[in-house]
Amino acid sequence: MLVVTYQRKKCIGCNYCVEAAPELFRMSRRDGKAVLLNSSEKKGFFTLKTREMHLVSQAEQAKEVCPAKIIHVKLV
Ligand code: SF4
Repeated sequence: MLVVTYQRKKCIGCNYCVEAAPELFRMSRRDGKAVLLNSSEKKGFFTLKTREMHLVSQAEQAKEVCPAKIIHVKLV
């Protein structure tokens, strides 16, 4: 299973994650920060768990390009 975690309050709204992983992230028109699609929130951390393993490379790229280093990727 792919687990992506995102600490949204530290997002600076640069859009890089959306370019790297359009199936995982969108920008919010409301506050200009990224949204991790289909995630659930707990204490400011958003988590997506999925068995769609074709998303692993997108998730890894988003993690790499995020200047705030707030995207984390795990395989469990
Ligand atoms: S790459 Fe990081 S800082 Fe930039 S919009 Fe995405 S989550 Fe926010």
